[in-house]
Amino acid sequence: MTDATAPFDAATATAAYRSALQVIGAVEPRVADAIGAELADQRASLKLIASENYASPAVLLTMGNWFSDKYAEGTVGHRFYAGCQNVDTVEALAAEHARELFGAPHAYVQPHSGIDANLVAFWAVLATRVEAPALEKAGVRHVNELTDDDWRDLRHALGDQRMLGMSLDAGGHLTHGFRPNISGKMFEQSSYGTDPGTGLLDYDAVRERAREFRPLILMAGYSAYPRRVDFAKMREIADEVGATFVVDMAHFAGLVAGKVLTGDFDPVPHAHVTTTTTHKSLRGPRGGMVLAQPEYADAVDRGCPMVLGGPLPHVMAAKAVSFAEARRPEFAGYAQAVADNAQSLAEGLARRGATLVTGGTDNHLVLVDVTSFGLTGRQAESALLDAGIVTNRNAVPADPNGAWYTSGVRLGTPALTTRGFGAAEFDRTAELIVDVLAGTTPTATRDGGVSKAKYTTTDGLADRTRAAAAELLDAHPLYPGLDLD
Ligand code: PLP
Repeated sequence: MTDATAPFDAATATAAYRSALQVIGAVEPRVADAIGAELADQRASLKLIASENYASPAVLLTMGNWFSDKYAEGTVGHRFYAGCQNVDTVEALAAEHARELFGAPHAYVQPHSGIDANLVAFWAVLATRVEAPALEKAGVRHVNELTDDDWRDLRHALGDQRMLGMSLDAGGHLTHGFRPNISGKMFEQSSYGTDPGTGLLDYDAVRERAREFRPLILMAGYSAYPRRVDFAKMREIADEVGATFVVDMAHFAGLVAGKVLTGDFDPVPHAHVTTTTTHKSLRGPRGGMVLAQPEYADAVDRGCPMVLGGPLPHVMAAKAVSFAEARRPEFAGYAQAVADNAQSLAEGLARRGATLVTGGTDNHLVLVDVTSFGLTGRQAESALLDAGIVTNRNAVPADPNGAWYTSGVRLGTPALTTRGFGAAEFDRTAELIVDVLAGTTPTATRDGGVSKAKYTTTDGLADRTRAAAAELLDAHPLYPGLDLD
């Protein structure tokens, strides 16, 4: 086992999973079979989905127990249900580990997902910056005490706020104020993009847009931007225009926890509110979290039932376990390897002629512009999948193929780094990817054009690539020693 993998004892984990599958199989064997099949599938694919990882058996096992049965609305020591003493223990532990891990004054570990964490953050900003002053002005403590006229005015004021975030095609996320998402219906949104020449964030342009637009919330964070963000500079801009600075570090939280992104590139000391998922580079259970400066802590803690359903105590317990793992020195080694491996992957792709958005990476992901191979993102994604390489298509800045077909594929290193892949394996992976892209041709359409979806691949290429990928995967087994048979 390499340092990159969260440590576990294979014999104990094997016994635990075999017993669990026996218990499950006695009720619905098809579910037990599907769980086993999922492990086999994950073991057999070269997973480069930038938002996925492999949580440790300890994290996974923590979610399968009676904590799942508890209702625990409220916060630690302050519940709307009796009998929450053990939930208090795990929630307090998860929050304590999170505060220590990220150096944050406050951590709220209840959000069920990244989207939920963002909703909590938006609510907390609205509550603190719009609702609280309105209550104070009206001389009341609670919205129920407002007159009907004051209530109507408050609702209008809440609906009249602005958010400035990174544009979707530059790598921003749908929840950062875009129309198809509830955030775009709550806020009037404007976007900042990246420099058309370099593909890099242009902070002067962000400042200019912020000065014109005067947002309540300046949002940073991304799903598909392959570079570090200078959060100190972004905070300066937020301060200049009186905005609350919210960072969604869902993708790169593992690099923050592992101290790869530090100083100006660590969002936590600079943002008023930082949101994250816990399951991507951070390698915890599926879930979300909000970190907050003290002035937003109370409003953040009212996330449930304001915008969240009851907390999931089994997942909060698993968050505590994963954060304990991330506080071990091995995790910093893992995070550094994720970033180093992204460099190797990027260099390997570029050396073989692939075009990379921004020319490279300094985080965990690489965005390949596949138009130089004559392909759409959709064709590239499908051809790679045929060859056993799992990626996702992604828009590139000013994408000529739109959000459905796209012109890019996004590749991330967190999952395969957990399997123990290093520089040589990622270089070989780059070679396999370029071979597949170069060997794939769009199908001609009847009207003489080219299809955006259909393609053909050189005979035998997919099979040869699968065999080569299997060699890499066999050398770095997922959950080594864990044997379900
Ligand atoms: N924020 C960012 C930046 C993301 O990339 C994602 C998901 O990919 C989310 C939020 C949403 O996370 P979840 O799927 O847990 O709701």
